[in-house]
Amino acid sequence: MSTYNKILVAVDLSREAGLVVTRARELAQLYGATLTLIHVVEPLVAMEDYELTPVLPLEIEKTFEQQAKNFLSSLVSDMGLSGVETIVGIGAPKREILNYARAQDIDLIVIGAHGRHGIAILLGSTANAVLHGTHCDVMCIRVGK
Ligand code: AMP
Repeated sequence: MSTYNKILVAVDLSREAGLVVTRARELAQLYGATLTLIHVVEPLVAMEDYELTPVLPLEIEKTFEQQAKNFLSSLVSDMGLSGVETIVGIGAPKREILNYARAQDIDLIVIGAHGRHGIAILLGSTANAVLHGTHCDVMCIRVGK
């Protein structure tokens, strides 16, 4: 029987994130796999037109990064998860998720079929890009309607 050893779950900050993590946890328990939660903060694009942007983006990014860390910690404690690793990356979510998965030899990525970007199409843009760029299996969790 095939098995998974290292499961990575992609967590956005939506209300559905808990559902995606719940499914990932079930799979980790089923296969005796380790579970890692990853959230990626998208960097702000500097715009020449705004005078404040040379000063603010780094601060704002740090704030977002801290908020993401807090969000993941709350999720872990609210769900009573133990032994899980949490990662906060900065960059394009699809690229960071794929890079991390490859670098860490992840063998299953669990991702929501939709999040903030994708409710109107079959798969959200992140799920779609991960599905097409990955070296390993991907499970898309149906969320929302
Ligand atoms: P979307 O591309 O916004 O439709 O999101 C689809 C799924 O991709 C979500 O349910 C999450 O599992 C994952 N995802 C989206 N954005 C992020 C992010 N910034 N960091 C980690 N995972 C994400």
